[in-house]
Amino acid sequence: MRIDAALRDARSRLSDSPSAALDAELLLCHVLGKPRSYLFTWPERELSTAQQADFTSLLGHRVAGEPVAHLIGEREFFGHLFRVTADTLIPRPDTETLVEKALSLDVPAEARVVDLGTGTGAIGVSLALARPDWHVTLVDLSEAALQVAADNAHRLGAAVTCLQGSWLSPCPGPFDLIVSNPPYIEESDHHLDEGDVRFEPRSALVAPNNGLADLAAITQQAAGKLVAGGWLLLEHGFEQGEAVRTLLTQAGFVQVGTAQDLGGNDRVTFGQHPV
Ligand code: GLN
Repeated sequence: MRIDAALRDARSRLSDSPSAALDAELLLCHVLGKPRSYLFTWPERELSTAQQADFTSLLGHRVAGEPVAHLIGEREFFGHLFRVTADTLIPRPDTETLVEKALSLDVPAEARVVDLGTGTGAIGVSLALARPDWHVTLVDLSEAALQVAADNAHRLGAAVTCLQGSWLSPCPGPFDLIVSNPPYIEESDHHLDEGDVRFEPRSALVAPNNGLADLAAITQQAAGKLVAGGWLLLEHGFEQGEAVRTLLTQAGFVQVGTAQDLGGNDRVTFGQHPV
């Protein structure tokens, strides 16, 4: 079968996926070991019998709902390819908003930065690569996730420190910048039964108290580990902006505000520890 015909077939098999064309392309690239440009440069190339069988098998898993990132073992985030396993959250484009906001802040040239609940390391490693003079620490409660993060940092050439533990508890501090994309989904949220999240670790997604418990815990701890003038940046759900701004204000943060993601939704709330 030719590449263009294989993609056409795959798109129709994946018609339930909101990203059928992209899914098909990423899976076929994985089978061929080629970049996406190859598919459109060589549409008439024939797949070998083995390649066709591999592609058919991957499509079967995808039709059953498995995330593309798990099937190919990686996901692009902030221009870098991160290894992804079932032990980590799959990096989201929304989270790039947090990285961009962090890079826009006025912090020292050799800022001490920590990414709490780092998962694949997507946030912290992207920051370390963009600002090689920053001292970036990655923290996760999950040993398995932390290994994925350390591996991603190593493969992408980022010098980071990895610490296992709950939020700021393993960190002596102080920090100039604390960032986190913690669990923030309510247990009863119907999104948990749809799409990729069904295959991601619940511990990375769900938090008690309307999804606010971890956001509140981090805010409390951060107030004690930031330098005067240091910043806290938290990703949260699109309806949690006001609640998170209140958490930060009550904990004494100033310059509190919320940045919107590419979809225009409240996504990242930030505040500065008073000078
Ligand atoms: N934004 C993710 C989602 O809605 C959740 C990420 C998180 O809980 N930290 O699927």
